[in-house]
Amino acid sequence: MDYAGQDVILCGWVQRSREMGGLTFIDLRDRYGITQLVFNMELNAPLCEEARKLGREYVISVKGKVAERSNKNPKMATGDIEILVASLDVLNTSKTPPFTIEDNTDGGEELRMKYRYLDLRRNVNRKNLELRHLMAIETRNYMNSQQFIEVETPVLIKSTPEGARDFVVPSRMEPGKFYALPQSPQTFKQLLMISGLDRYFQIVKCFRDEDLRADRQPEFTQIDCEMSFVTREDILNTFEGLAKYLFKSILNTEVPGFPRMSYAEAMKNYGSDKPDIRFGMTFVELTDLVKGRNFKVFDDAELVVGINIPNPGDYSRKHLDELTEFVKRPQVGAGGLIWIKSGADGSLKSSVDKFYTPEDLQKIAAAFGSQPGDLMLILAGATEKTQKALCELRLEMGNRLGLRKPDDFKPLWVVDFPLLEWDGETKRFYAKHHPFTSPYPDDIPLLDTDPAAVRANAYDLVINGTEIGGGSIRIHNKELQQKMFKVLGFTDEEAVNQFGFLINAFEYGAPPHGGIAFGFDRWCTIFGGGDSIRDFIAFPKNNAGRDVMIDSPSEIAKGQLKELGIDLKK
Ligand code: ASP
Repeated sequence: MDYAGQDVILCGWVQRSREMGGLTFIDLRDRYGITQLVFNMELNAPLCEEARKLGREYVISVKGKVAERSNKNPKMATGDIEILVASLDVLNTSKTPPFTIEDNTDGGEELRMKYRYLDLRRNVNRKNLELRHLMAIETRNYMNSQQFIEVETPVLIKSTPEGARDFVVPSRMEPGKFYALPQSPQTFKQLLMISGLDRYFQIVKCFRDEDLRADRQPEFTQIDCEMSFVTREDILNTFEGLAKYLFKSILNTEVPGFPRMSYAEAMKNYGSDKPDIRFGMTFVELTDLVKGRNFKVFDDAELVVGINIPNPGDYSRKHLDELTEFVKRPQVGAGGLIWIKSGADGSLKSSVDKFYTPEDLQKIAAAFGSQPGDLMLILAGATEKTQKALCELRLEMGNRLGLRKPDDFKPLWVVDFPLLEWDGETKRFYAKHHPFTSPYPDDIPLLDTDPAAVRANAYDLVINGTEIGGGSIRIHNKELQQKMFKVLGFTDEEAVNQFGFLINAFEYGAPPHGGIAFGFDRWCTIFGGGDSIRDFIAFPKNNAGRDVMIDSPSEIAKGQLKELGIDLKK
């Protein structure tokens, strides 16, 4: 309304047009929103005729006067006004787009990805990119205010062990040799600490060749950070500061201090190292309590564990069968589900009435702290598998009961991860984080005697069940680094071949240092209340790692292969 009576020029795309009597209305869309244009047959017939020929997504420029609408639309940001058009320029025509450019479009995922440039014209996607932009700007503001400097590190490098496969790039100048794309700038940021940069960060692309899921892309972006002369506490405080700053500046939300939870506690109570603590229903262990009643499932189980659902409403047999199907799905992997229902009067009914007396069931209900009207769900089996399955079931119940609200944020730090993970198949230890992670000083002697028991000086930031970032205090001593490589099964030669540069650098006054990296795409997705990181990436790849718009990966010319010294097997 501030512009009413003024002459303006607007440029954009035709969203839709309609005719009403002698008037033609066109919704003009640009990055800033939609404005209604009016053409009047009585006042200017040729102009109105021209407007009637405009198709969807034509690119136009109009001159006209801003006027107050007689029929206001309170749902539209510009709904109080319209533009009485005096002249029209058609800047370009458009084919009819393959899907509607609307928030609720009729286009399926594959089609929208093929025409991603049209998909990005949709309001929802534009908003996501705007949020991402703001997150990057505010991250830089905060990091700059804390004396971090942004340094770019190379993309054509050598393998960095973050536990995924490398993408490799063949070298033309040295045929038969390859660069690897960085899985992260890990080694470079550590070298920058040895260079004395003190505080580094970078919003940076990382590349990992692994199977994709909703929250994974072969190339993704990290907020990568490293600091010298710090303890774990310094790092957690600095980055809790970043998280709070982003919550405040982007979402205008205050989050109180972030709780810290040990890995052991997270696994025991939530069956996950990235617990969603927006709701309760924490795990209750029943192993000792339930054995010895001839119920084989429990008697044979390494772990019997359950959750108590407070007052879920009427859970009929059908619902319980549904839940049983849910836990039996291969992705969840439980053998079956045992339930105990508490009636309004506190009486108990269960799927194991044959084996357990009412008194037994009362004892179990007491262990759960169960109240009349509650529902207890129990799984049994091998420890890790059962924890994982119950974690899925807990999240499912959280979803069903609407306890996982996207605008409720409950961040926490998970700390004290194990340093190593045993792989039964290859019969060797792998670094749980990466091989540069420092063990707890007290645990270093255990590297020789009981490596599996060594705790890492590592931490993850978790928000609402998603791992948003992770890092560690690093090893900065050559001998300890070499020992770590040995525990991980590297021969001396392999270690020198792959990481000689870092081991050498440790001999020239490496300061104690540590850092963290955040999944930027994931963080944007959580703040934007989205489901998939793809929605917050301008040009993402599909589930098969393919960019269907530019059609990549694709073959290359024979000449190129020859130049690279590559022979393809037929
Ligand atoms: N480079 C690690 C990662 O990408 C993060 C870190 O340790 O700082 O997970």
